[in-house]
Amino acid sequence: MLRRKMHVVSDWTRGRHNAVVGQRAPIMTGDGDTDHVCAICETTLIASMRIEQVRDLVLKCPRCGTINEVLDTAAAVQY
Ligand SMILES: [Zn+2]
Repeated sequence: MLRRKMHVVSDWTRGRHNAVVGQRAPIMTGDGDTDHVCAICETTLIASMRIEQVRDLVLKCPRCGTINEVLDTAAAVQY
């Protein structure tokens, strides 16, 4: 499994993204190879999804409230 940190979004209203607000983590779960975690508290927000499936998604962390986006420039860490 790979683990990839998401990035903090400073301007939530930019409009180019589809924003997803979840009540609990993970907000989304798939059958891919990568967990995507909150940039601040490292809660897994997207479990087991490939980068191709979630690129440019924006999610609000239900634990710390940080708004995160998936950027494929982030390094993936094997774990
Ligand atoms: Zn968080």
